[in-house]
Amino acid sequence: MLKQYSLRNLTAPEVAQLVARNTDANHAIQDAVLQIINDVRERGDESLRELTAKFDKIALDKLYLEKDDIEELAMTITRDQQRALEIAFQNIHRFHSVQLRKERSVETMPGVKCWREARPIEKVGLYIPGGSAVLPSTLLMLGVPARIAGCKEIVVCSPPQKSGKINGFVAYCLQLLKIERIYLTGGAQAIAAMAYGTDSIPKVDKIFGPGNQFVTKAKSLVQGMTNVSIDMPAGPSEVLVIADDTASPAFVAADLLAQAEHGPDSQAVLVATSQALIQQVNSELAKQLEVLPRAEIARMAIDNSYAVAVDNLQEALSFSNTYAPEHLILETDEWESLIPRIVNAGSVFLGHLTPESAGDYASGTNHTLPTSGYARSYSGVSVDSFVKKITFQHISSEGLNHIGSTVEILAELEGLHAHKNAVSIRK
Ligand code: NAD
Repeated sequence: MLKQYSLRNLTAPEVAQLVARNTDANHAIQDAVLQIINDVRERGDESLRELTAKFDKIALDKLYLEKDDIEELAMTITRDQQRALEIAFQNIHRFHSVQLRKERSVETMPGVKCWREARPIEKVGLYIPGGSAVLPSTLLMLGVPARIAGCKEIVVCSPPQKSGKINGFVAYCLQLLKIERIYLTGGAQAIAAMAYGTDSIPKVDKIFGPGNQFVTKAKSLVQGMTNVSIDMPAGPSEVLVIADDTASPAFVAADLLAQAEHGPDSQAVLVATSQALIQQVNSELAKQLEVLPRAEIARMAIDNSYAVAVDNLQEALSFSNTYAPEHLILETDEWESLIPRIVNAGSVFLGHLTPESAGDYASGTNHTLPTSGYARSYSGVSVDSFVKKITFQHISSEGLNHIGSTVEILAELEGLHAHKNAVSIRK
């Protein structure tokens, strides 16, 4: 069950230790991932086949599936399941389509016009996790904004399932997104393949997607080793629930377990305004765990999680801002007044009837979010993640008269005479 702390009794270093996660202190994951990256870089497809046999226990000949296979697999799911994926697709599309706004041009001085325009990143790589659970929802969360942004080439990688293929849900999402190929490779090797390119898998400009610690580490390593960039460090999932005595212990427990079933390394944190509530949630956890098919995984994650008792909601929010959760759920009637105080969080779920699961799948917001405290400085994936913003400027002769001497003086004081001359010669 959840370990219990009382914020009042914790020192600042103890709080810092409590909110720290995924430190990979002895670099074991980093060392393993570096070896995989170097192997894929040197041996390409051959290495991918070997690593897939080793980690996914699948012997692959062809490293990808194409349109015909995808069509056949997509037909294996029921009409109700197709419809649910279509509704999720539409809501995600609706929410993201307003994000591509044109900015207005600014005349900083008469005759000096500056503006920004967005251009799609041409080649993007999407990682769709598929180890312990296949996540077709992640394909929608990444594919929809990539399509809205107008990316030309969308490379999708996901580990093969026991069948040696992908499941019908991922196939149906590929169809909704009009993506005609998927590469059957997972883990750090998929990230390395998209960063360096192999005979089968094209090199991309930016890599997106969540994954386990191997995937996340590989993304941050290839970003430093190549000219490929990444969306963000989106690692093992986490939730922080703030609850007061207006909360239903059963709802709180259900939300904590929804997170915990992702993987043993997921974290579910409860910040409650009373010890009694923590105890009620703990007994609900025990009850609900009994009937959960992924109880074993969820139990390990719950063991890796904790509850903190606080004196009031302000204290709860201050702890949450220090933790910087990927998902924050406010299970209190007071949720509205807390919004302005939220400083660090990936995505926020308000009130008693807004489960995180809604945002995970279908309400429209993106579920690819910063974990491990990166919500302090990163946003979740959006259409912005799939574009670059290019600045433009035009200076007329009136503009040159206005700005010329300022630039000449600044160039001279920096000792850059060629810069000064590039203005003087035009006057
Ligand atoms: P995954 O696809 O991320 O990883 C599976 C791959 O890991 C395998 O194909 C294998 O190649 C590799 N692997 C497994 N064991 C290994 C080992 N010992 N050494 C090297 N490589 C190894 O799938 P997963 O494991 O199910 O993890 C999915 C993760 O994504 C979960 O942790 C979940 O919490 C997270 N997630 C995060 C977000 C987010 O937005 N942050 C969203 C959804 C899911």
